[in-house]
Amino acid sequence: MRVIETVSDFRVAERKAPRPLGLVPTMGYLHEGHMSLAHRARADNATVSASIFVNPTQFGPNEDLSTYPRDMEGDLTKLEEAGVDLVFAPQLQEVYPPGFDTHVDVGEIATKLEGASRPDHFRGVATVVCKLLTIVRPDNVYFGQKDAQQTLVIKRLNADLNLGAEVVVMPTIRDSDGLALSSRNAYLDDGDRKAALTLSRSLDLARQLYDSENHDAEKIRAQMRNLIESEPRTSVDYISIADIETLDELDIIDRPALVSLAVRVGDVRLIDNTLLP
Ligand code: AMP
Repeated sequence: MRVIETVSDFRVAERKAPRPLGLVPTMGYLHEGHMSLAHRARADNATVSASIFVNPTQFGPNEDLSTYPRDMEGDLTKLEEAGVDLVFAPQLQEVYPPGFDTHVDVGEIATKLEGASRPDHFRGVATVVCKLLTIVRPDNVYFGQKDAQQTLVIKRLNADLNLGAEVVVMPTIRDSDGLALSSRNAYLDDGDRKAALTLSRSLDLARQLYDSENHDAEKIRAQMRNLIESEPRTSVDYISIADIETLDELDIIDRPALVSLAVRVGDVRLIDNTLLP
């Protein structure tokens, strides 16, 4: 496995790499969710690359950029074990050199849900992913369903700018108690960790209600909210039941729907989602 820090070195390696080439973009502090993407990339491609870059432009001014967990050594061990060939781990200045002033704005799909709660978040995501796709030039790029809206934003970006990658979306990996794995779970103390289970439980509740012929989206949102707010450490940012392609909110679940939510547990903002049916 080679660890490459500069764009110019990566380009040389990419030109020599046997195709197909897969890319797993990450912000590091890797867990089994990330590794499931790496394993799938290993199965699909002759060459597997992963990137580790905590992208400052996707964090808001009051968000957790300065405390975002990091473990480069541990991450490299995990990637090596997964059979990754190339790791792109640039420093900040390599990605955003002095004078950098071009940004990628994906339209409507990026304005809802996470986009509404975190202005400029998807601008930062789209800009860095656009750069990664043009530097790495992968045939296949791997993302997690955990960040459901992000996958829609990236598919839009990839299609609209003819970036030429196949976008592969992999299922959310969870702990045995249902909590979706996230690098941010590292911030949770024992009490928070317990309270955080309300996210996956509320998604399970939505599915149970849907399966027992309750397709009224507002009633389901209300019951999800009740469940989450029964836990005093939580506060709901949003609960959404939306068309899976447009993310327009639904009154009745009469088509494939994304049930998604963002909840603060103490100071930690967590997201999760499931698809219906
Ligand atoms: P991050 O490092 O948080 O930017 O995540 C990098 C990639 O891993 C993104 O495509 C995420 O959607 C994906 N990912 C994060 N958590 C999970 C999970 N629990 N299951 C599957 N994929 C995940």
